[in-house]
Amino acid sequence: MTVGIVGAGQLGRMLALAGYPLGLDFLCLDPAREAPAGAVAPLLHGEFTDPRLLARLARACEVITFDWENVSVAALAAAARRHPTRICPPLAALATGQDRLAEKRLFERLQIPTTRWRAVSSRATLARAVAAVGLPGVLKTRRLGYDGKGQALIRTPADLEHAWARLGHVPLLYEEWVPFDCEVSIIGARSVRGQMAIYPLCGNVHGDGILRLTCAPFGPAAWQRRAARYLERLLAHFRYSGILTIEFFVRGGRLIANEMAPRVHNSGHWTIEGAVTSQFENHLRAILDLPLGATYARGYSAMVNLIGRLPPRASLLALQGVHLHDYGKRPRPGRKVGHCTVVEPTAARRDARARQLLKYLAVGVRIP
Ligand code: AMP
Repeated sequence: MTVGIVGAGQLGRMLALAGYPLGLDFLCLDPAREAPAGAVAPLLHGEFTDPRLLARLARACEVITFDWENVSVAALAAAARRHPTRICPPLAALATGQDRLAEKRLFERLQIPTTRWRAVSSRATLARAVAAVGLPGVLKTRRLGYDGKGQALIRTPADLEHAWARLGHVPLLYEEWVPFDCEVSIIGARSVRGQMAIYPLCGNVHGDGILRLTCAPFGPAAWQRRAARYLERLLAHFRYSGILTIEFFVRGGRLIANEMAPRVHNSGHWTIEGAVTSQFENHLRAILDLPLGATYARGYSAMVNLIGRLPPRASLLALQGVHLHDYGKRPRPGRKVGHCTVVEPTAARRDARARQLLKYLAVGVRIP
């Protein structure tokens, strides 16, 4: 059985690596010849929107999934109309995940608390949005924002002009700045026939908008229950298949949804070693309508992203208990080139290992 993956980044690579023990084959599509998944699975090289290549993918694969949420909904929909192939997760979820405005509206409709926000389409609507939502706030592009890209913090009225000059050429959204106590994410799967499985909550620390550290399981049981309830609402709404993630700010015990991601998620990488079934395997099980695997944690995990360049392999692996994932990417500032995970039997031992790892990597973040 062959699974098509539109996008051959590190998420596609980890999907393929999780699928081989299940006897699955993969075919990826990516414009980059050196895409990370290309080292472990056959790669069609070309644009995500190329109808010829999407047709080849559709003919060769029982199901098509994607490892990046900014692939073209229109091109995938056209391929699905022309060829008898399934696309999972559903394109409606992909379309919502691509547009912060659609995301906010859906959160509100499903009574998932989110930040106060206003759509911004002109300098005048920005002024009205700032007046309605207040300062400080964040101006974000509605589309193509990830890892903190396409955002401008507005602290005072004097910041408005600069933020508008930087981002004003595309549709935007202005939202309140949340002085959060911490950030968390909830990841879960729904299979084609409607079975759901939710992972333990993840505690996430970002730096410059990029995820640096995830600890899981994280937070009190009440947060877990509430986050799982919100995620189940979204999964049911879309009649979803695959892995879905919601990221939240936590302030005074309140969970405030920031965004959703209709795919396997960076904050779920710890599940490879730290959960009974990884998010990658459960994504594949879900889209192929196989029974979902157990999602409980095997211990206490910490995952640290390796950003920019990999440290020397030998000295990293000399640290006890470290699992290294090298994505095979060329070094570049700000680029996620790998991650490492530690799993320990207690939270205290996990925190000690994570501190050692962060110190070695010179990552200046605190354990959440
Ligand atoms: P995003 O691309 O929306 O996930 O933003 C990346 C990161 O920027 C978040 O994980 C937060 O750390 C920070 N951030 C984004 N929006 C806000 C906000 N409204 N209030 C506080 N922090 C934010």
